[in-house]
Amino acid sequence: MTVQIFPPLTIPETLAAGPGPGNTDARVLQAFAGAGVADHMQGDVLRGMIECKSMLRAIWGTQNTYTFAVAGTGFSGLDAMFAAVMPGDKVVAFANGTFSGIDALTLRIKAATREELAADALDPKAASVAVIEVPHGQSVTGDLVEAALAEHKPKWAFMAHWETGSGRINDIRGFSDACERHGVMGLVDAVSSLGVEDFSIDDYPGVAGWASCPQKGLCCLPLTYAPVSFSDAYIASLNATGAYTYVHNPIFEARHWGIVDGHDVEKGTYHRTHSGYAVAALHESLRLTLQEGISARAAAYAHHEAALRDAVTALGCKVTSDMTSLVVLNLPDELAGREMELVQACRAAGFGIWPTLSEPVQVRIGILNQLKPTAIREIVRRFAGAMRALGADADPAVADARLDEHYAGAVAAE
Ligand SMILES: *Cc1c(COP(=O)(O)O)cnc(C)c1O
Repeated sequence: MTVQIFPPLTIPETLAAGPGPGNTDARVLQAFAGAGVADHMQGDVLRGMIECKSMLRAIWGTQNTYTFAVAGTGFSGLDAMFAAVMPGDKVVAFANGTFSGIDALTLRIKAATREELAADALDPKAASVAVIEVPHGQSVTGDLVEAALAEHKPKWAFMAHWETGSGRINDIRGFSDACERHGVMGLVDAVSSLGVEDFSIDDYPGVAGWASCPQKGLCCLPLTYAPVSFSDAYIASLNATGAYTYVHNPIFEARHWGIVDGHDVEKGTYHRTHSGYAVAALHESLRLTLQEGISARAAAYAHHEAALRDAVTALGCKVTSDMTSLVVLNLPDELAGREMELVQACRAAGFGIWPTLSEPVQVRIGILNQLKPTAIREIVRRFAGAMRALGADADPAVADARLDEHYAGAVAAE
């Protein structure tokens, strides 16, 4: 057998203009690379985790004691959040795109009985889980949630806050209110909204569990931590039932973040190895978020998304999303059916836009950590160029004129 030793891996710098991961902030990378070697029980690593916990409570807007972060990506945090869902539990899950669809699958896996799981191991049809499908491109409404909870009377309800697959914002107020009215514990996938939208967990008492990610609104890709937060009711339920996991049981997890028996303690205790590099990176991303301010950042996203939306509309595209970190669009009729071709050409040139991952095929252009007129202009310039390369009559001057209107007077602010 010959052993092949490859040359060192070089990964180029690309323009991350998709739904996520976003452009990791230079400050975050510096914190990651600048951390010394230190184990997961070293004093400054533990102190960093306690400080992250405190900053996360401020960023999430919550008094929930069980607010910390789970090593990994968005689905790691979501898996911890779904840990309290036990076989046979009644669940209503709203699915309106790729990610809430995967979350609904996770819930069917967790709530399935042994027989249901064995009958279709990778796609169990759990009788206790009602999945309410909302067509791609539409939002989950409060009325829909109210009707489904009244009908099914579940223990848990699930919704994505922002469904990144289709770029749609769902009605979190309606969801929380309906959960409260029916005594249901709400679980929310906030992977795309944290750090982009100005909202506070404690304004939504019907939601018992929240899970987000490091690499979207928090600009912290260097594989770090997925923020989570749980109400006392969630923790009480978990305490009563247990969960079929050690590593993703939020009660065990929280101990390393200095949360024991419902209280903050001075110092974390061992749950698993944590990376000092990752803790330093997350810490810096949270400092950055607080320094910029959640509401200022949310306003900046809205401002730049409106500019991008207008510019691509001027190029003949039709935007169907309403998130502020992402536009999801249909190409003009002359390019219909060539979405993948266009996206692949852009990606091959280091311009990282995305298609939708489920039908219908649309184009997704994101602006995570691209909150500057020059950055939006570059995205529009490259996108218009890609459309023209496919033969579209997309006039970059028309798009530029729209951007000029949005950014009149903004030059000095850059
Ligand atoms: C990105 C995303 C996920 C998946 O997160 P990973 O970090 O890829 O694990 C889940 N839900 C939503 C809404 C997302 O946008």
